[in-house]
Parts: sequence; structure tokens; C-alpha cells
Amino acid sequence: GYSSMSGIPGVRERTLIAVKPDGVHRRFVGEIMQRFERKGFKLVGLKMLQAPEELLSQHYQDLRRKPFYPSLLQYMTSGPLVVMVWEGHNVVRTSRVMVGDTNPAEAHAGTIRGDFSIHISRNVVHASDSVEGAQREIQLWFHGKELMD
Ligand code: GDP
Ligand code: MG
Repeated sequence: GYSSMSGIPGVRERTLIAVKPDGVHRRFVGEIMQRFERKGFKLVGLKMLQAPEELLSQHYQDLRRKPFYPSLLQYMTSGPLVVMVWEGHNVVRTSRVMVGDTNPAEAHAGTIRGDFSIHISRNVVHASDSVEGAQREIQLWFHGKELMD
């Protein structure tokens, strides 16, 4: 039966997806959630918040030395985020495909960034880029109790 699928390696894989302030402002929360639901992934965590700068600096710790880092933090604190944890087989890799290239000019039509954005500094959505990165980010944004089994 369906429940026995949890025995397949990778089925319980989880990733962090966040609708960025431009995505919230432009009313894309429902569209983005619908894409993940229709694909077959399971929502196991969800919150809306104005992200503290300290949390974002940990989230983007690898980008601290990039020239765009100050503007990235300004963008990410410009309004509320909707942060989610999605679960399912290969969800990390598959969600990166669904989100599309970081640069919207390179993101294929049919991807979230390909369909809804034109500039790298306003690219609508975040998705973890590795299973290890996803685990780190999920722990950063959610308490264990906030995630559903
Ligand atoms: P992602 O994993 O596809 O989101 O890309 P990265 O982890 O490399 O970068 C994180 C975020 O920083 C991106 O989603 C963009 O919002 C922003 N970013 C990355 N590269 C650039 C850049 O060259 N210029 C600007 N303005 N923002 C960038
Ligand atoms: Mg990244």
C-alpha cells in the first residue's frame, strides 16, 4: 500500500522552500504551494514570518563575502517570508528543477523562476540545494515540534 512507500530510500527526504518577500507581495504563495502539492510532495511544516537578520545571515552563511550580500539581506528583510518544509522522494533535487536556475534569464519556462521572475535579485523563491544543506536550513527555521509526521 501507499504507506509502505516510506520504506523506499529517500522517500522521507525533506527540503526547505521559502517564498521570498517579492513572491509574497506578488501573491504567489498559493501558486507555489499548489505546484508542490500537485507534484506529489507532502507539506510537513509551514510558517509566515518577518525574518530576523541574524537568522538570514546563518541561512546565507556561504554568501557573506559576495558583493551582493548586503542587498540580498535587505531584500530578504523587506517583507514577510512564507517558509515551508516539503517531504518526498528526491524532493531536494526535484524542487531545484521545479524552482529553476538562480538567474531567471536562464530559468526554463515552466519553472517557478522561469515563469514569474526576470531578475536574479528578485527571484521569488528559495530551495535548499543539497540534502545536507536542507537539514541544516530546516533546523535553522523550524523547531522539531513544528514539523508534522
Ligand atoms: P539559489 O540557491 O538558486 O537561491 O542561489 P544562491 O544560493 O547562489 O544565492 C542565493 C540568492 O542570492 C539567490 O537566490 C539570489 O536571490 C541572490 N543572488 C545570487 N547571486 C546573485 C547575484 O549575482 N546578484 C544578486 N543581486 N543576487 C544574487
Ligand atoms: Mg542557494
